[in-house]
Amino acid sequence: MSAPSILAKNLRTVGQGLCLVARGCARSWDRVAKSPYRRLVLGITFGILPASVAIATYSAYPSDDEQMARSLQTEIVAPLPIPSIADQITVVTTHSAVTTHTTMIRVNDTLGAIFSRLNIEDAALQRFIRGQTLTQPLSTPREGVYVQAKVTADKKAQTLKIFLESRSANQKNSVVTISRRGERFAINSAPFVYETQQAMSAGLVEESLIESAKAVGVPGEIAEKMPLAFERAINNGLDISKGDDFRVIYERQFLEGDFVRNGKILAVSVTHHGKTYESFWADDGTRNGGFYSLDGTSNRTTFIRVPVEGARVTSSFMPMRRHPVTGVLRPHQGTDFGAPRGNKIFAAADGVISRRSFDKRGFGNYLMIKHDDSRTTLYGHMSRIAEGMKVGVPVKRGQVIGYVGATGLATGPHLHYELRVNNRQVNPLKTSIPDKEHLTNEEKHKLLASARPLMARLAMLNRIQSVKPLTPREAVAKEESTPEQPRS
Ligand SMILES: [Zn+2]
Repeated sequence: MSAPSILAKNLRTVGQGLCLVARGCARSWDRVAKSPYRRLVLGITFGILPASVAIATYSAYPSDDEQMARSLQTEIVAPLPIPSIADQITVVTTHSAVTTHTTMIRVNDTLGAIFSRLNIEDAALQRFIRGQTLTQPLSTPREGVYVQAKVTADKKAQTLKIFLESRSANQKNSVVTISRRGERFAINSAPFVYETQQAMSAGLVEESLIESAKAVGVPGEIAEKMPLAFERAINNGLDISKGDDFRVIYERQFLEGDFVRNGKILAVSVTHHGKTYESFWADDGTRNGGFYSLDGTSNRTTFIRVPVEGARVTSSFMPMRRHPVTGVLRPHQGTDFGAPRGNKIFAAADGVISRRSFDKRGFGNYLMIKHDDSRTTLYGHMSRIAEGMKVGVPVKRGQVIGYVGATGLATGPHLHYELRVNNRQVNPLKTSIPDKEHLTNEEKHKLLASARPLMARLAMLNRIQSVKPLTPREAVAKEESTPEQPRS
């Protein structure tokens, strides 16, 4: 728990205590006033409580940052009495203990393997699970599902819970609970929400942002997403490199006290050559939300889904189709947008022209734009390519790059559009690409409200960092170089 939250918690507890006492006093002041003993109790209560707040505050929140930075590095060395094995065995055997076991369903898992990880040997329960529809994610194991069991010493499950996360925004997470009732089982399903905690990390960039974040303990899956928070800036030349520093706040999700998974990144901040970039997660109506600046602008490379004026979809995305002109069955993985000849065609996202060509037997006049290391787009059958569109020329999202036509193999004027991710064509209308350039006013207000406490934490991490603890490499270099240092 972080110092401010400890402090907040203390203050809250004390506040509640004072309220109770005050309410009690108001109700029975007469009696209190008459009894010296009660007056004493009252005096102690009101005297000690504030003192304990002060002590808690002082111990939880050191007066200066250097102290805090040092306390982060302090190792606590204290001898703990280790109970003897014999004592522990006695405890286990005398209490016929129920133990809790948890696991996450893996790729190609089996019910048997899941049971053995949960320390269950219970054939009747296996048969029950296989006969139920509610338990299908367990009988036909679905990867990533979290399972928790309370198991008795004879390896029978007292309860078994399957936590199912919803796959769409308008559904709730549900937990399926199986309970043993003697020789029978009861089953029910109810909604659940994760208990979410925030984790914070900060560090100096060495080789790369991702590796440096991992080096200070940020989980890999979180570290790998951090550059996405600055995707647009990185595509526009921000080079996060050695000597820069970073801070990240992300969620950790728990169920009944057990850690289940990492949640989303809430905020990332990077200081590059003295300039600080901040990026916050916001609910933008898409399934996973996105990274935005406080002014509501997306920090990712955003795509226009339909990059042509006045379009209708004339041929949906499909792996194979009979070509309307040649009659030959061939892959058609782009999307055709029918539109009047001469209508404007836009760059779907910021990028650089990577190809300009004419293909009489295919796309006619066409352009390709490279948006980043993984994504390119292609625009075919143009009647005319806009002026200045040469290979190597940078273009902005929404910039006019050409006009609708029917050059190449086409039955009528349309834009043949392709979006390729890692050289594979994906459906531009369905795939998950950031396409929201600005938050709505309402979304922006929500972002500002949720970002406020995060900014305070980023600032606190920044103050701690300003003490500049040495990176491990610097520390080693310093130690090694000490003997050779000239002495005056
Ligand atoms: Zn086409």
